[in-house]
Amino acid sequence: MSTYAEILQQVKDEGLFRTLPQIKLCGKYIEMNGRSLLNLNGNDYLGLLDCPELWTEFLDTSAHLYAPSSASSRLLTGNDEIYHQFEDYLRTAYSAESALIWDSGYHANSGILPVLTDHDTLIVADRLVHASIIEGIRLSGASFVRFRHNDLDHLSQILREKAPQFDKVWIVTEGVFSMDGDRAPLAEIVEFKHIYNNVYVYVDEAHSVGVFGNGLGLSVELGLSHEIDLLIGTLGKALGSVGAYSLQSSVIRDLLVSRARPFIFSTALPPVMVAWSLFLFQKVREMEHRRSHLFQLMQLMGTEHHQLSSPITAIIIPGIEAVTSAAAALLDQGYFVRPIRRPTVPAGSERLRISLTAAMTPQEVMNLKQALAPWY
Ligand code: PMP
Repeated sequence: MSTYAEILQQVKDEGLFRTLPQIKLCGKYIEMNGRSLLNLNGNDYLGLLDCPELWTEFLDTSAHLYAPSSASSRLLTGNDEIYHQFEDYLRTAYSAESALIWDSGYHANSGILPVLTDHDTLIVADRLVHASIIEGIRLSGASFVRFRHNDLDHLSQILREKAPQFDKVWIVTEGVFSMDGDRAPLAEIVEFKHIYNNVYVYVDEAHSVGVFGNGLGLSVELGLSHEIDLLIGTLGKALGSVGAYSLQSSVIRDLLVSRARPFIFSTALPPVMVAWSLFLFQKVREMEHRRSHLFQLMQLMGTEHHQLSSPITAIIIPGIEAVTSAAAALLDQGYFVRPIRRPTVPAGSERLRISLTAAMTPQEVMNLKQALAPWY
């Protein structure tokens, strides 16, 4: 039997020891050890952290109207009316049957899949879906197959072989992939619903809400949101707050409220944070200027061989040592970027994950490109 100290040593020997950086978030910069570093690792794609005036406006006009804690789950005392206001807003914005707010994207993904599936269900997930989706799949106990990343032929082959054997089949993917920044072929994926009458589609838009579709995400931009059976948006990234929401049929919403364990057994987000999310969401819908600035930066960041299809760029530097020393070299040049390694990404595809924000200037992006030149 190993002691915890031995297990920890093993983590260190594998190069997988993780430490928490001592930092202070200051808009688009991060202060660390007395230095101000350009933050390349956030998910604040619209640069809302750089807009202190929004927080001030919210504090001056609205914050005092809402409780700072829910004191229990929504099924007990947590269901403040602001939840319904926000859910109504989301439902209307997306023309969806229903919306449901979650404490986090992790809670949503890990809680929803076990409710949607049983032993007669097959989950077919893109190989690169987020850890929280994998958690939901594991907890569901449903049959599970992965298709190669964005590979429609592979997906099609799996469905051809397996779909007839199951009562329901859920295809699970992301709008924009968190660690690669590429987009799922959503139009082609929803086509499978027309081929098989037992296929449902689940899309996690954590990295596409705020940025695409006037802030509502990729499936809205593509005119497909009515085809998505379960859509997840997270509020802690481009939307500048905390928490998540799901959009689904009214029947599925009722089932989730009755059965999803993270929803039932966890304290609801404080009403004041839900009010902040709604306040920001409304502002974000109007932020076309920020989105078009971001799209310009994405173009600037692209190269002849690599066009960005989202604000995220993955610079693959295989090997833990190599990626760690690349991150250290960038730190010396004034950039905050942490190496990404397994289990976040598969071994051998270690990388720097660079995310742009609308708070950056074109000059900053040009300088960044130069700094990344040895690997990019
Ligand atoms: N889905 C994806 C694709 C994500 O990248 C993340 C966060 N990294 C989550 C879900 C989890 O969202 P949250 O941070 O709100 O728990």
